[in-house]
Amino acid sequence: MTVNRELFDQVMVPNYAPSSVIPVRGEGSRVWDQEGREFIDFAGGIAVNCLGHCHPALVSALKEQGEKIWHLSNVMTNEPALRLAKKLTDATFAEKVYFANSGAEANEAALKLARRFALDNFGEQKSQIISFNKGFHGRTFFTVTVGGQAAYSDGFGPKPGDIVHCDYNDLAAFEALISDSTCAVMMEPLQGEGGIISPTAEFVEGVRELCTKHNALLIFDEVQTGVGRTGELYAYQGLNITPDILTTAKALGGGFPIGAMITTTDIAKHLKVGTHGSTYGGNPLACAVAEAAFDTVNTPEVLNGVKEKSALFRELLTAINEKYNVFTEIRGEGLLIGAVVTEQFKGRAKEFLVAGTAEGVMSLVAGADVVRFTPSLVIPEADIREGMARFEKAVAKVVNG
Ligand SMILES: *Cc1c(COP(=O)(O)O)cnc(C)c1O
Repeated sequence: MTVNRELFDQVMVPNYAPSSVIPVRGEGSRVWDQEGREFIDFAGGIAVNCLGHCHPALVSALKEQGEKIWHLSNVMTNEPALRLAKKLTDATFAEKVYFANSGAEANEAALKLARRFALDNFGEQKSQIISFNKGFHGRTFFTVTVGGQAAYSDGFGPKPGDIVHCDYNDLAAFEALISDSTCAVMMEPLQGEGGIISPTAEFVEGVRELCTKHNALLIFDEVQTGVGRTGELYAYQGLNITPDILTTAKALGGGFPIGAMITTTDIAKHLKVGTHGSTYGGNPLACAVAEAAFDTVNTPEVLNGVKEKSALFRELLTAINEKYNVFTEIRGEGLLIGAVVTEQFKGRAKEFLVAGTAEGVMSLVAGADVVRFTPSLVIPEADIREGMARFEKAVAKVVNG
């Protein structure tokens, strides 16, 4: 069978438009395609491969678990899931964990839990959910409606109700919206898909205070920021506040699908037996790999390394920009970096990604105006330099047409 990009158009639902490049092998931050062309991976499978491709600790955890026991469902619990849950609770504010298979599912669980918590404690009038324009929380119908881009939730019939939005970093607008009818507030501690937008300290602290005042649960969506991405294990740990519920996925499995919702005992108790569930949630293979990823990332060496690598990324991007003047701003935290294109390239961030692929470097975009970099947290300095040299060639091509 010939497997190529044409086969995609033949057999796949057309909701994606993938590149013509088909990678077949990866090692660390290097990837090779069907033709043997090499790429430096600054995309990390969309902020997922926190330890690059085929990290030895993850490969060995997967092989070991693969020869022990496969799926069990939640009819029986399993050792890897319990070990991972213990580590997640030891390392964070949380006391209880719910496992899912993706970020959207972790968020779906968080939102359902918040609604049930409010119903049990305050009654059914307390159902409003507030979230932020440009926010992204996944593609299930509930999470995409909570997300801050109506274009992604329009056209699928009646939407889940009582969900409102305001601008991120606009505390006055938020204060005007929140009331005792607010059940929960869902936010990213740094907007990822929306364009790599950091919150101000005043905004985060203000949101926390107002949630507490109105008995609304603060849900931090750390699906993209979690597990070391910003240089903290979780981004909230670098802010001056603690959420009530936190969701984590992407980097959690280091490339193996897993998500989790974590919270306190007092809140968790409202998801009683039978209220929510997932066949695959807590799958032993996923949890074994995630445990190995978590152990590897949650060390001072790796987390401090993220801050050092971030500085190098910014320095090299700034140097490219001094030559070509294509970005107005390099922003983000840790290894979640956005380069905002100038007016001249407005709406054309993707051209840099495409040109980069042709030069042998994989990157991402965050919206139409921001080139996004989410490499492995342990990417070697030499790969950062080589990838940036390739990216510079891509920038030159875009500039010179
Ligand atoms: C990617 C992402 C999601 C969705 O995760 P999936 O695994 O695609 O369902 C949710 N929230 C944030 C902040 C994300 O970046």
